[in-house]
Amino acid sequence: MVQGHMAFLTDFHCHTRVSLDSQASLYDMAMAEYAAGVRWLCITDHCDTVHWRTLEHYPPCRTVAARDRAELAAVRERLPADLHIRLGLELAELQLWPELTEELAGDPGLDFILGSHHITAQLGDYHELTYTDPAFRKQMWELYLDNLQWVADKDYFDVMAHIGYVRRYAMAQGVDVGLALREHGDRIEHLLKTLIQNGRGIELNCSGLRDGCGPFPSVEILRLYRDLGGQIVTTGSDAHRPEQAAKCLAQGQALLKSLGFRYVTVFTGRRPESIPI
Ligand SMILES: [Zn+2]
Ligand SMILES: [Zn+2]
Repeated sequence: MVQGHMAFLTDFHCHTRVSLDSQASLYDMAMAEYAAGVRWLCITDHCDTVHWRTLEHYPPCRTVAARDRAELAAVRERLPADLHIRLGLELAELQLWPELTEELAGDPGLDFILGSHHITAQLGDYHELTYTDPAFRKQMWELYLDNLQWVADKDYFDVMAHIGYVRRYAMAQGVDVGLALREHGDRIEHLLKTLIQNGRGIELNCSGLRDGCGPFPSVEILRLYRDLGGQIVTTGSDAHRPEQAAKCLAQGQALLKSLGFRYVTVFTGRRPESIPI
């Protein structure tokens, strides 16, 4: 470890084969995270209320937490004793199935819930869209913020996932336009204030640092969150494969420190705890 840095990393966003888009076993993922210096790890498999392609209700979402618990129970004794392992969900698409979202979030065995948004009823999955038209992008970010605000106003989650992550898909199409304060400052500020007032946090999703898209949220939004008094920040690699475990978390932690944050947050039984950095 580099001197002056915290002696360990915290990863509160990672996936296993319980997610449709991962094949990693919980054991392989946890061991890779541990080997990379993570001592607080939360498994946050996708719990989507709708199927990402059809937008139809997706019944397996009801089994995600139980499958993770079974995976963990089977390997727990083989995991290092000083790895704090927690089970959470990346719970998505509240706006399409609000009652179901509340029901899923009511599982008393959960340590942590990422409030996440990937799909709109109007446009489908952000992953599938074309971002080359500036007018479309403006409309898309408005819609994105509508959805995040909808999530922020509810109380079923702990931390809002990867604010602004859509930039990744635009960049893949050669268009580098992120969620900017210059264009959407008032709405972003309102969103962050809502989160802070409601006792929720944000995550610093480091997957964009891994692939050159910058942190999610961007530095200017992180700074605004800090200036508004925001203190709850989890760090997450969003790893879907063991090779991605803990990637860029150290960089993310250093970024938080440079912006004046003094803690990262971990959760147990949905209760936050601050760890000095
Ligand atoms: Zn996500
Ligand atoms: Zn994720």
